[in-house]
Amino acid sequence: MTRHHPDSLSLMEYSAGNLSEPHALCIRLHLDKCTHCRSRVDTLDSLGAVMMEQQPKVSVSETMFDDILAKIDSTPAPEQPAKVVPKISLLQKLLGEDINNLPWKRQLGDVSVLDITEKFPGQKEQVVLQKLGAGGKAPAHTHRGTETTIVLQGAFADQKGVFNQWDFVVLTDQDEHKPVAVGCEDCITLSVLSAPVKLTGTFTRMLNPFIR
Ligand SMILES: [Zn+2]
Repeated sequence: MTRHHPDSLSLMEYSAGNLSEPHALCIRLHLDKCTHCRSRVDTLDSLGAVMMEQQPKVSVSETMFDDILAKIDSTPAPEQPAKVVPKISLLQKLLGEDINNLPWKRQLGDVSVLDITEKFPGQKEQVVLQKLGAGGKAPAHTHRGTETTIVLQGAFADQKGVFNQWDFVVLTDQDEHKPVAVGCEDCITLSVLSAPVKLTGTFTRMLNPFIR
């Protein structure tokens, strides 16, 4: 059961088909495992269809969708039949391999990375898989832009809480964090970066040009 969900605006943009391919993949991976967000997107899809028919020029805001979603959330949803789990996950199909068997590149300390941006030709964002070894720590860093991350395996913790498998987190240049892998598995995340990360520790800052 995931506890950290994409925000209303992201779900709305996903439903409207406005997200970049890597961002949409992050949302799709989350929706695959989160019935709460899936039912929100189903509703937004139906709402979008009605709006397209009736008011093609209507202007929307995040507040408006938050209000609508709050109403939906306060109404108990009918029990939905479980969707058929695809035999090959979206990710495995994209990568052609199990995430644990990828050619990971050791970056710094307990962190390994694999840049998969080339899997999304024509996209502006950088798409990176990051692995934090079980029990490992990542160096303190901020983000120069917005980083959208979904946890694919294991879990990590930072000052904002614990992020488990399929949890969704968006970090900006205001967030400085020092994630630690929790549990006995390597923590693997998929991140879409609008700009590279910026290391903030006194020593690691010197390594910045070599990291990203
Ligand atoms: Zn969710």
